[in-house]
Amino acid sequence: MATRKQRNKKGGAPAAPSPESVKKEKEKARVLRDSVWWQNLLAKGECNYCGQTFAKKDLTMDHIVPLSRGGKSTKGNVVVACQPCNSDKKYYTAAELILKNRMDSKINF
Ligand SMILES: [Zn+2]
Repeated sequence: MATRKQRNKKGGAPAAPSPESVKKEKEKARVLRDSVWWQNLLAKGECNYCGQTFAKKDLTMDHIVPLSRGGKSTKGNVVVACQPCNSDKKYYTAAELILKNRMDSKINF
């Protein structure tokens, strides 16, 4: 019964998510979008990034850690984002965005 799938492990770098797991997380995101939890967030209409209020149709589901970076479609990893913020964010992670913003303004450690 045991299926043996062994892949060569490359030490160091985190493994990129497999296309199957990304597909699975996209499916989970679709389910999450239909949840009461998400609908309530949309009803509030507040963008997680800029804090402004938008109409439901202008809001998107944003993954804090992108699926392409191994992020999951869980309540802790998805937030409401307006379209400008979502497209501005592109593929950066939240931590990188914070850093980026600091670099753009004067770095002050
Ligand atoms: Zn926004």
